[in-house]
Amino acid sequence: MIITKTREEIEIMRESALMVSRTLGLIAKEIKPGVTPLYLDKLAEEYIRDNGGVPAFKGYKGGRGVPDFPATLCISINAAVVHGIPTNTPLKEGDVISVDCGVKKNGYFGDHAYSFGVGEISPEVKQLLEVTKESLYRGIEQCVSGNRVGDISYAIQSYTESFGYGVVRELVGHGLGKKLHEDPQIPNYGKRGDGPKLRDGMVLAIEPMINMGTKNIRYLPDGWTIVTADGKPSAHFEHDVAIVDGKPELLSTYQYIEDALGISKPKA
Ligand code: MG
Ligand code: MG
Repeated sequence: MIITKTREEIEIMRESALMVSRTLGLIAKEIKPGVTPLYLDKLAEEYIRDNGGVPAFKGYKGGRGVPDFPATLCISINAAVVHGIPTNTPLKEGDVISVDCGVKKNGYFGDHAYSFGVGEISPEVKQLLEVTKESLYRGIEQCVSGNRVGDISYAIQSYTESFGYGVVRELVGHGLGKKLHEDPQIPNYGKRGDGPKLRDGMVLAIEPMINMGTKNIRYLPDGWTIVTADGKPSAHFEHDVAIVDGKPELLSTYQYIEDALGISKPKA
């Protein structure tokens, strides 16, 4: 069941989303060779708790004998697509890392993500990051009342596949609210005009997960980390979007990240 939100709820959710945005901005300043993912995770957890939030991923149920998720951030490096568990292994020059963060504040969730290069990255990886981020914005453009979920999916898939990239099928974007994962599911592949109709008050976490090579994935033995089947890199970007007055309104922002990285970005 899709739960739409009132204007008041959307404003509360903006606060949760922006807490994630600020956390990612803080992390962005620290990402460099030699830094450990566990250090980034500790910074994020402290920042969120100091500001009245609760990390949303920590303790997330694993099920099927998999332990609950142990960290505040999902940090997924190189061939890891998403759900990577932060470790003590230092980042290296040329790594690409997806940092995904969720918080709960005032009863509502924020959940978004950014992929970073560590130091200098190859032109191929740089293109993968740029295309994945652009596909997210193309998906967001489709968040218009009267469109359907498939319009978002199609926009993401058609753009990224035109570069020969693989679109992960097993993991999808989602509605967001009092639960971290609500209906509808938002696949990053699909047909125009398919799926549930979009309408005012929907809040959606849109999150393309795009592989440089094959779309196929597998799980690591930790039960969480998802990696590409061919070992090639993967990128992941996620924003929280509300549909207001028929149009998409970003609740999260990359401004803090892009300021930290010294990138000027007109669009968010
Ligand atoms: Mg999400
Ligand atoms: Mg996320």
